[in-house]
Amino acid sequence: MPRRVYLDHNATTPVRPEVLEAMLPFLREAFGNPNSVHRPGQEARAAVEEARRQVAGLLGAEPEEIVFTSCGSESDALAVAGAAYRALRESGGRRNHLVASSVEHDAVRETLSVLGSRGFEVSWVGVDGHGRVNPEEVGRAVRDKTSLVTVMHANNEVGTLQPIAEVVRAVRRVSADAILHTDAVQSAGKVPLDVRALGVDLLSISGHKLNAPKGIGALYVRKGVLLDPMVAGHQEKNRRGGTENVAGLVGLGRACELAAREMAAHAREVAALRVRLEEGILSKVPRSRLNGHPALRLPGTCHFSFEGVDGHQLVIALDLEGIAASSGPACSSGASLASHVLEAMGVPEPLCLGSLRLSLGWGSVAEDVEAALRTVPEAVRRLREVVPA
Ligand code: PLP
Repeated sequence: MPRRVYLDHNATTPVRPEVLEAMLPFLREAFGNPNSVHRPGQEARAAVEEARRQVAGLLGAEPEEIVFTSCGSESDALAVAGAAYRALRESGGRRNHLVASSVEHDAVRETLSVLGSRGFEVSWVGVDGHGRVNPEEVGRAVRDKTSLVTVMHANNEVGTLQPIAEVVRAVRRVSADAILHTDAVQSAGKVPLDVRALGVDLLSISGHKLNAPKGIGALYVRKGVLLDPMVAGHQEKNRRGGTENVAGLVGLGRACELAAREMAAHAREVAALRVRLEEGILSKVPRSRLNGHPALRLPGTCHFSFEGVDGHQLVIALDLEGIAASSGPACSSGASLASHVLEAMGVPEPLCLGSLRLSLGWGSVAEDVEAALRTVPEAVRRLREVVPA
């Protein structure tokens, strides 16, 4: 049985052994509730606060600025809806305007769509052909009744990094009090993040994208920024109710600590593999192109369009050859849908439908790249034979 090749690290990542090791005691003997006053409870509390320090360390934040959540989607919802409802209430219903980039993840888009159906107005700011927003354009979308601006740090499909610090400066020139959120779920642990240098008020991360388990996330909330909670309760200083997922957040903390220590070397290794992968694919597959910014991109993400190929079928064909990859979003019938990210970048529809994302990460090796270089060109060729362009 040939080794399975995992090239879908933007979908989720394996849990590192060191992370699992750190978690296990909290799934076994150290099961106390961190809100209990007795010793088992206080041991769990100490672990929660240690994890908070580790997450804060990765982001350049203070530990009390970290709120643990159940996932990246919840962090995004707490940030976007929590800020929007708070500002609306405090302004007596006046501040009901929100600004977002047109390439946000569904966690943000769907939250905004719910807010839109409840009387909020959303302005969507477009991107250029590489998927980057123009910070000045974001600034121009801001009005005096804008309560929140949200622009993701790195895109999950094409990997493009956004000029967040410039966005913050452009917004600050026109508004002193619009809250700035960035979804850094894809970039945390992969590229340096410093909340002070970025100037953001809110920043979302998710455990399973950086080698911690699924079902744990965190939101950086700058000191002084107040949000309406989405889950009411006294935990997390009244910012997020619910008994803490101690094992999960211990895993997240350990993953953040490892990422902070190893990031530079890891990013170099992964980027070298990615360059070999994308150069190989582009040279071996005729009528192919790379999407996303050529340089300002996550080190392990490459996204291709192949003319005359259905991306969904390509992913199935690769899976049969032992390679796990991803195309764009698929609807319930399994047919491909054009991704809103590629559409926003102006990629022509036939190329949107023929897309393939290969994403590398911790554990990726040269052998994975060689397997993809042997398999992808042949799979594309076969699919083109079945349905000629
Ligand atoms: N934001 C981005 C950019 C993502 O890529 C994802 C997951 O794919 C999320 C948010 C949601 O994170 P989670 O799966 O932890 O809810």
